[in-house]
Amino acid sequence: MSILVVGSVAYDTVETPFGKAERVLGGSASFFSVAASFFTSVNLVGVVGNDFGEKQLAAFRGRNIDLSGLERMDGQTFHWQGKYSYDLNSRDTICTDLNVFEFFKPKIPESYRKSELVFLGNIDPVLQLDVLEQVQKPQVVACDTMNFWIQGKPKELRRTLEKVDVLLVNDAELRQLSGEWNVIKAARAVRAMGPKTLVVKKGEHGVLMVGEESFAAPAYPLEAVFDPTGAGDTFAGGFLGYLAAAGNAKDETLRRAVIMGSTLASFCVEAFSLDRLLKLTRKEIDDRFRLFKRLTHFEDI
Ligand code: AMP
Repeated sequence: MSILVVGSVAYDTVETPFGKAERVLGGSASFFSVAASFFTSVNLVGVVGNDFGEKQLAAFRGRNIDLSGLERMDGQTFHWQGKYSYDLNSRDTICTDLNVFEFFKPKIPESYRKSELVFLGNIDPVLQLDVLEQVQKPQVVACDTMNFWIQGKPKELRRTLEKVDVLLVNDAELRQLSGEWNVIKAARAVRAMGPKTLVVKKGEHGVLMVGEESFAAPAYPLEAVFDPTGAGDTFAGGFLGYLAAAGNAKDETLRRAVIMGSTLASFCVEAFSLDRLLKLTRKEIDDRFRLFKRLTHFEDI
């Protein structure tokens, strides 16, 4: 199955306790696409300004990523700046310069319309719905969102969620969306809004998937976590890329997809920007996937 992704392509300025990176490649669609392209072909939809050059585009070239849906507009590329505290679990957004993103109206190229899997990255829910109206019956619609939209456009988000199969959110967003503090109750409430599979991301505490059955995975224990930016989108890329390549959503496939997402995310956080992902090989992915299995395996009593 091919995947259509719509989301941000950005310049990020990131400060962590270990250093600072200025105006480096970022954005939800960038992390997602590179991660998913290890498994299947990706059709990217996004927008950049005329300050986004061939050097930045090189990150996507030579991979299984179609860029015909990446629009170039007059103006500056979206820029996000964030700063992490010492434990790397909380971050402050210092600034969000929407720039060309403010005028973004996703246009889905004809050649993308039959994509079987659609990932609606974290953008305005009105635009997310607009994308769904331009595609032909995808088999799976997955969606990410954030507090900004949960609070700012609740009705619009509800309308989008009715059409979503898989929702990826963090635990705080899940609580905010449902108004329930308990994660299990919150998951039940959100599943009733539309998405039958919920993937709750809990940063260094791993992932909880709630569907017909539930499945929990820890984050891969790393000695050197450098920059968590993009971990969520990279998880989504590994998770959905694996599902697309498998071509089914059986329980055992979903479980493996969660581990694949966690594996990809564990590489993402080892360096700034997409630096680690761009050097990654399929063998490294498969080796760490197996270490993950070893980490979480135990025998029955
Ligand atoms: P994550 O760490 O997975 O939550 O995603 C981080 C990425 O999201 C960064 O590379 C940012 O460029 C991008 N980002 C941050 N805020 C927004 C926003 N309001 N809309 C779209 N993308 C954003």
